[in-house]
Amino acid sequence: MLQSLNVNGRSYNGNGHGKNGYKNGNGHHTHTPVIDKTPQKLAIETAVRTILDNVGEDPERDGLIGTPDRIARMYDEVLGGYNVDPVKLVNGALFDVTYNEMVLVRDIEYFSMCEHHMLPFYGRVHVAYLPTNKVIGLSKIPRLVEMFARRLQVQERMTGQIAEMLDEILAPRGVAVAVEGQHMCSMMRGVKKEHPVMFTTSFLGEFNDDRELRKEFLSLVK
Ligand SMILES: [Zn+2]
Repeated sequence: MLQSLNVNGRSYNGNGHGKNGYKNGNGHHTHTPVIDKTPQKLAIETAVRTILDNVGEDPERDGLIGTPDRIARMYDEVLGGYNVDPVKLVNGALFDVTYNEMVLVRDIEYFSMCEHHMLPFYGRVHVAYLPTNKVIGLSKIPRLVEMFARRLQVQERMTGQIAEMLDEILAPRGVAVAVEGQHMCSMMRGVKKEHPVMFTTSFLGEFNDDRELRKEFLSLVK
């Protein structure tokens, strides 16, 4: 059972109804001025305080007093992928090039958050495509990966989203995406000391049709 709290003139409750779950009281805050914060950030802070209180912590003690604010700001970054416009991201980085061979970008580091536990999973992404007449600037592929990683995700869906986005942007003959992931939600729980790496793939176009091509890609990324 969640309780209602009233701390420093600001009342909030643990009903989980986001924006309606808190009142701004006298407009003061213990750390940064409320005036700088969006309703979303304040709602996240309220929720974090509720969690702290309900796991048996004291949200007002020294080490924790700034934690709700820090987490709200951290989510802005690690879950910032919702607000990225892929068209703007890619803008100006598509080039007309006659090149028929596989373009491969390997070992793109990513950090994401599993949507089932809101704990990190992380690893590397490998991307390949077979251009028709367009190639994309090398730095843009890691940024597309980041756009999808910085959301609440499952690794399988993220793998498919990266492939589909490249397919849409480049209209290539084929796309291959392979993702390696280590999931904190499985690493931190239970007693197992082995930490398996999850491997997911998505193949479109010629990569989907041609077994040899898939094999070649997989041998290049392993
Ligand atoms: Zn999980």
